Amino acid sequence: MAIATTNPATGKVERSFDAFTDEQIEDRLARASAAFASYRRTPLERRAAWMNAAAGLLDAEAGDVALMMTTEMGKTVKAARAEAQKCAHAMRFYAENAAGFLADRPADAAAVKAGTALTRYQPLGAVLAVMPWNFPLWQVVRFLAPGLMAGNVGLLKHASNVPQTALYLEDLLRRAGFPEGVFQTLLIGSDKVEKVLRDPRVAAATLTGSEPAGRSVGAIAGDEVKPSVLELGGSDAFVVMPSADLAAAAKTAAASRCLNNGQSCISAKRFIVEESVADEFEELFVAAMRAQKVGDPTDDATDVGPLVSEQGRADLEELVADAVRHGAKVLCGGERPDREGWYYPPTVVTGITREMRMFGEETFGPVAGLYRVRGIDEAIGLANATDFGLGSNAWTNDPAERDRFVDELEAGQVFVNGMVTSYPELPFGGVKRSGYGRELSEQGIHAFCNAKTVWIA
Ligand code: NAP
Repeated sequence: MAIATTNPATGKVERSFDAFTDEQIEDRLARASAAFASYRRTPLERRAAWMNAAAGLLDAEAGDVALMMTTEMGKTVKAARAEAQKCAHAMRFYAENAAGFLADRPADAAAVKAGTALTRYQPLGAVLAVMPWNFPLWQVVRFLAPGLMAGNVGLLKHASNVPQTALYLEDLLRRAGFPEGVFQTLLIGSDKVEKVLRDPRVAAATLTGSEPAGRSVGAIAGDEVKPSVLELGGSDAFVVMPSADLAAAAKTAAASRCLNNGQSCISAKRFIVEESVADEFEELFVAAMRAQKVGDPTDDATDVGPLVSEQGRADLEELVADAVRHGAKVLCGGERPDREGWYYPPTVVTGITREMRMFGEETFGPVAGLYRVRGIDEAIGLANATDFGLGSNAWTNDPAERDRFVDELEAGQVFVNGMVTSYPELPFGGVKRSGYGRELSEQGIHAFCNAKTVWIA
């Protein structure tokens, strides 16, 4: 895949970049290794000051950065601005909290016959971050803010279609004061990931992306006995029970499904509604999907911009066509508009059965599958009938039902009466084929630390 910015709203290639040569890759690995030797010893207060400086720059530059992201991958400029601000918040969160997260944890010394016993958190080294295009800043910051505060250094292999955002991040951290080599962007295709990950100077890997990419990187990391975190796809359930506030549920359902032009791992994708309220919810939901304004992503009034690529749109169309061929019904959308750019309208499909691809595959675009069930047992069973397990929604005002959803939904997170979102304050990650390991919160900073046991007589 060429390393280039191609504007999804026009289909035009705006900028192309040469992939790094082997010599350039070697140079960056050597710099990362040299940087780690001294960076790991920098006081936490200095790292925090650099991280806060990066947050300040990002806030100040949010407007320009947002336009760059919109040009690279088509998200609406208002969503891109919000993403930049969220990243600045996460940077400040880790600048403020890293000292507490990384402080020595004393243990009961007498119980282990020691004078002193504790856990100390130390950095691992250079971490390779393989990242996707859909939240081109946020996915990276989710790793870099905790990772760098812990004393690791970062090597970013970003998705090939967001090279400008990748280079911006390297430049941002350098301008914020981080020493040379602490955070570097590698302009490489996915074919070079194995070589970099197997290099002894690389200590660990984190990948956010599709299941095949995760399987490949996880296998190489396993073969090298290097720790890895995998944040992969999702086909999350959004369950609506009779006691729910249906109007609020329908509005949130449409917002979740259309978030990031429908290309978010934690977007609700399968809408599972108890049959006694299914007609009413369907009407509200279809109306809310129809009300989403599709158009130019640089216009602040737009809710849904184009999909990232021609292939992305073709894949989505094929999933809908397959469902229709097997008897599903399209309640709204379902036809690409006659205009330039890779647009696809908010779409609701009902009557989905197990033989349809949409039942088991992730729909990465604004296409919702609407299902009807009888009672909570069937709702939970259908919600869990997926290989994925990232972030589930449940809508109910019945405390007993709420407890069952929290307990029984197979997912890395469960949000009740609200939209699944990532917060630096809460752990983020999946179960089943949505991946393993956790980002964000205290767990995210510990993911790339050696939790060293210290025992002193
Ligand atoms: P992708 O094709 O897997 O790409 C993600 C990254 O992995 C890119 O940098 C890509 O590089 C690289 N890559 C692809 N194949 C690889 C391989 N075999 N070995 C090593 N690296 C490889 O995914 P995407 O299309 O960009 O993103 C969409 C997917 O990401 C969806 O499934 C979505 O749900 C998931 N996602 C998950 C989360 C989460 O937090 N769980 C968040 C966002 C997205 P190139 O660009 O050079 O191919």
